[in-house]
Amino acid sequence: MLERRLHPSKALLHAADLINDAQLMASHGIVFGKPKIELDKLRAFKDGVVAKLTGGLAAMAKQRKVRGVRGVGTFVSPHEIEVETGEGKKLVRFEQCIIAAGSQAVKLPGLPWGDPRVMDSTDALMLGEIPKKLLVIGGGIIGLEMACVYDALGSEVTVVELFDQLMPGTDPDLVRPLQQRIAERYAGIYLKTKVASAKAQKNGIEVTFEGDNAPKPQVFDRVLCAVGRTPNGNKIAADKAGVRVTERGFIPVDKQLRTNVRHIFAIGDIVGPPMLAHKATHEAKVAAEVCAGLKSAFDARVIPSVAYTDPEVAWVGVTEREAKDKKLEVGVAKFPWAASGRALGMDRSEGFTKLIFDKQTQRVIGGGIVGVHAGDLIS
Ligand code: NAD
Repeated sequence: MLERRLHPSKALLHAADLINDAQLMASHGIVFGKPKIELDKLRAFKDGVVAKLTGGLAAMAKQRKVRGVRGVGTFVSPHEIEVETGEGKKLVRFEQCIIAAGSQAVKLPGLPWGDPRVMDSTDALMLGEIPKKLLVIGGGIIGLEMACVYDALGSEVTVVELFDQLMPGTDPDLVRPLQQRIAERYAGIYLKTKVASAKAQKNGIEVTFEGDNAPKPQVFDRVLCAVGRTPNGNKIAADKAGVRVTERGFIPVDKQLRTNVRHIFAIGDIVGPPMLAHKATHEAKVAAEVCAGLKSAFDARVIPSVAYTDPEVAWVGVTEREAKDKKLEVGVAKFPWAASGRALGMDRSEGFTKLIFDKQTQRVIGGGIVGVHAGDLIS
């Protein structure tokens, strides 16, 4: 849980950026040559980043006299949790509790999961090898970020997505420049397509497809399944504490992050979407403040989203579609980066900025940016 939240993917995405930038400059008179990728060193760098972050957190917690118990915890009563530490069970009593047990990757049934060549995002971040041919199932943020990493490292990437759009739900306008760029680089992007079967063979994973634009059966060296994440609410014996969990595994909370049990709080992926680290950390702060007796509440008006793809896609507030659905009177201002000296100077002018404003008050109520560093600009 912690490791994923501490963004090991960002270290790899940075490496991908560097490779892509170097490649791009080759046509402008600075030629670095083909990069030599030392996978062990790259993996060690990524692990080092994670270790620094987790180590730093552990040290900060220690300074504040927080006791950590490592293991798998399940409730046994409204005031007790049992932790299986690997060296026996430990009972921890509490007056108040904040549940932050997160989510896990959905494992598409029918894939040969016992085979190490079939990966979820956690496996993909381990960088076991750079597959020659990689299939990414699911064109959401995780699938596309990992596709970006493996493409830069030299894999031939194919993406299949069930919906008729990559990153479904995101403003299609914003996704277009990303889709155009990756369509040129990847072996294939198949929308309205799903995997019909996947069999482990000696030479790879043999996959057949189903759907409007389904490609022919192919053998892939590795397959990454990134079809969404599911909350861990049903894995902590919440019923023993009397905490309500929905059928899907979410734990409902109020604005103070309280569950139905007054002294038990929950934050993060487990309380519902958006499943974003910055939403989780803010909720955590609010929950801690409420536990400490402060009059805090989660009142974020908007929560920005960033896909760290290349180009990056970032958005916040009301989208054009939402405005239409809600019949809001809005105006839309769009600035193409083809007119931005900064973007042209990077030879990356495919991006644009879009602002949505209330027609009457002229107040900006939403915005989207696609292009390099969109994620840095959205704030
Ligand atoms: P997602 O739900 O965003 O995307 C999954 C995609 O898989 C969807 O587009 C869906 O249509 C598709 N899909 C589902 N079943 C399929 C099938 N059988 N065949 C083909 N495609 C299929 O989930 P995700 O990308 O796994 O991410 C999970 C969560 O983590 C999201 O909420 C995401 O926002 C969050 N996250 C965010 C960031 C970030 O902000 N940079 C990074 C990582 C994860």
